[in-house]
Amino acid sequence: MALTFHVARETVLNKVAGAHPKPDTQRVALDAASGRVLAEDVAADRDSPALARSVRDGYAVRAADLPGELVVIGEVRAGERFSGELGAGQAVEIMTGAPIPAGADAVVMVEHTRRVDGRVHIEGAAEPRQFINPQGCEAAANEIVLRAGKRMDYADIAMLAAFGRTHATVYRKPEVAIVATGDEIVEVSETPSEFQIRNSNAYSLAAQVARAGGVPRILPVARDTVEHTREIVERGLTSDLLLLSGGVSAGKYDVVEKVLADIGAEFFFDRVLIQPGQPLVFGRAGQTFFFGLPGNPSSTMVTFEVFARAALELLAGQSESTLPMPFARLTRDFHHRPGLTRFLPAHLSNDGTEVTPVEWHGSGDVPALTRANAYLVADPFRAEYPRGEFIRVLLK
Ligand code: AMP
Ligand code: MG
Repeated sequence: MALTFHVARETVLNKVAGAHPKPDTQRVALDAASGRVLAEDVAADRDSPALARSVRDGYAVRAADLPGELVVIGEVRAGERFSGELGAGQAVEIMTGAPIPAGADAVVMVEHTRRVDGRVHIEGAAEPRQFINPQGCEAAANEIVLRAGKRMDYADIAMLAAFGRTHATVYRKPEVAIVATGDEIVEVSETPSEFQIRNSNAYSLAAQVARAGGVPRILPVARDTVEHTREIVERGLTSDLLLLSGGVSAGKYDVVEKVLADIGAEFFFDRVLIQPGQPLVFGRAGQTFFFGLPGNPSSTMVTFEVFARAALELLAGQSESTLPMPFARLTRDFHHRPGLTRFLPAHLSNDGTEVTPVEWHGSGDVPALTRANAYLVADPFRAEYPRGEFIRVLLK
């Protein structure tokens, strides 16, 4: 059964999320936590900020005193607290990050003041609370600031650090078995004859798996026989996810689906209306999800990015998997034959606003993919995209 791109993607998300994956957890130190998926909710250990704080260098004042000339009764900087209290007609010199002195209700930027000895002249008025971050405005003590299921970026790491976490509980990375199939495939270290091809798919997949937060496990190439493919597939099914490349088209020696059917696998789809990558198999054997990705290198890469990565991320404990496809403007006319969602190698300008298709000789053209930094995504209902028109792109 052939599914549209969107329905196929929803199917992957729903099937894997519906299986409620519960990965094991482990503790990691803060400096090893980036890119890991948090397995616990993290609460603030105190208000943030812990005290009302100035967000400018300048003077802490009472807004009602302005405009006017104020007596400077002292100074406060970050890391200390002003011991006195500010009365009418008084100001305290204050630095960014310093706690607001008692009695003050606004900060005036130093650029808008004139200091003469012990006094400061301020010509403008001030709004109460200006340039003050109130205590707890960013987060209150005990508030949950990070939820389990988040793949942590550098801001999340800063948050753990700020709230005193030297370690975090994260999910163990899923192991992903990678099986290339095909009698024509030889190891990278071998010298292929003209009718043979080096196994590049296992390595592009391993790179994509690692980038997505999994641990790749490359298995030997499966020969195009039912017996050998079955032997390797059974080994692969002991991992958390199994990725196969090749052997899923309708050819006589495409045995992957037969092998999986023989071992009692459930198939959720085996064809998707996309290019590259139409013959794409997704299913589950026992507890293990698998993808039979088409063997042409760019088909393997694209179908991993748009489908298998989502499964991996959910199996890794992420609460969601996203696939952002922003718009960019075409630098030239583009047209395609409607009916399929196409992901074609493209070059996105530095600022991400303009996209140019890269010359491409079909799904086997890996060199073209190395010149691309994105895919342009052509809609199945639309044939013509004139130059200057917006089209979706998927970052590579
Ligand atoms: P298949 O999907 O098995 O019909 O494979 C389609 C084509 O993809 C093959 O003819 C090869 O050119 C190529 N191919 C298959 N597997 C690999 C691999 N592991 N590495 C590089 N190219 C491959
Ligand atoms: Mg093959």
